[in-house]
Amino acid sequence: MSHFETDGKTSGRSCRSMNQQEAEKTNGFPGGENREQASIRVYHRCGGCGKKLEFLNSGKFRVNANGSSVDVWLIYRCKKCKHSWNLTVYERTKPSKIPRAIFEAFQENDGELAAAFGRSIDFLKKNRAEFK
Ligand SMILES: [Zn+2]
Repeated sequence: MSHFETDGKTSGRSCRSMNQQEAEKTNGFPGGENREQASIRVYHRCGGCGKKLEFLNSGKFRVNANGSSVDVWLIYRCKKCKHSWNLTVYERTKPSKIPRAIFEAFQENDGELAAAFGRSIDFLKKNRAEFK
């Protein structure tokens, strides 16, 4: 997987300390709150099975950095046939808009962050997931 560098090309948000980046890790993102809550059951029409089935959070992100824009998905899998379904986390987003700590968490398939998205109603709604 390619390494991501902001190397100053993304101007305007440089000169940030590690502490600021660390503080940003939960700012505006799911996580922190409701840590005890179980992840939400998600249902989706499976392209493999041809019917609506429960999909499970794989805990894996897919990052596609392409020049000046980045796509990030969280991968869910059909409980029955493991058919994958990518839920959009970021779509054609400028790398400078994504806090570095979060971006690294995506690349490292941070399980806690994946679980946090799995508990985020807004995230699931945005992806037109059906859930209980
Ligand atoms: Zn399936």
